[in-house]
Amino acid sequence: MKILFLTVIIMNAIWSHPYVEKAVAKSRHSELAIVIDDFGNNMGGTEEMLNLPVPLTVAIMPFLPTTKEDAKLAHKKGHEVIVHIPMEPLRGKASWLGPGAITTNLSDKEIRKRITRAIDDVPYAVGMNHHMGSKATADERVMRIVLNVCREKGLYYLDSRTTDKSVIPKLANEIGVPYLENELFFDDIYTISHMNKKARELERLLNDDENHIAIGHVGIAGKKMVQVLNEYIPVYQTESTIVPLSELIPSFDMIDKQVP
Ligand SMILES: [Zn+2]
Repeated sequence: MKILFLTVIIMNAIWSHPYVEKAVAKSRHSELAIVIDDFGNNMGGTEEMLNLPVPLTVAIMPFLPTTKEDAKLAHKKGHEVIVHIPMEPLRGKASWLGPGAITTNLSDKEIRKRITRAIDDVPYAVGMNHHMGSKATADERVMRIVLNVCREKGLYYLDSRTTDKSVIPKLANEIGVPYLENELFFDDIYTISHMNKKARELERLLNDDENHIAIGHVGIAGKKMVQVLNEYIPVYQTESTIVPLSELIPSFDMIDKQVP
């Protein structure tokens, strides 16, 4: 009886949530997580993006002027927060990375310290992905430490696949960190026509029963990205349910376990 009562409460709580209500009504099959990178530095389109009427996954860089403000606002508006950790790329200067960056010349102890502090600096974070990182994410020593800290803190890892030599899938599996992989970047070129083309490509991908993950950015083209999402979100909702990333991980939290 107690269990039934609890289930009723939980189901009521889930169904009364505005996003889920729509989803249940239309019984869609595929699930889509939209991740937006580069929050934390008062980037272009921040406010407009957080006002979109669906649960986004918001990747926030640590130790920046609006890190905490963006995380609190995102959480308040029902978005999921993850840490967007700057990591060393193959090309480009370390100075582009921002504070607390993970580079391959750091000691084990320093990497552990930086990752722990970064997680602590971003309120409400339940996962992590990386900013740049084509060199660091191919380095087994570095990523083993990063993923061990994620496991200890209960975070999942989204691999945005900035290199095809990423060691993250192998290590995440070995260490036991929930792992997700990006499928599509909306804005790898900052023009409306390119972003529309990628948005249409995603629309075609939603015609199945699979989970899908796509990444966009705030920043230079942040307002354009919001414009494209505003146009395509209603289209995506006819084919899929838009969910936070953690909903794509079976049993990531208690609510997932309670949904039949
Ligand atoms: Zn980034």
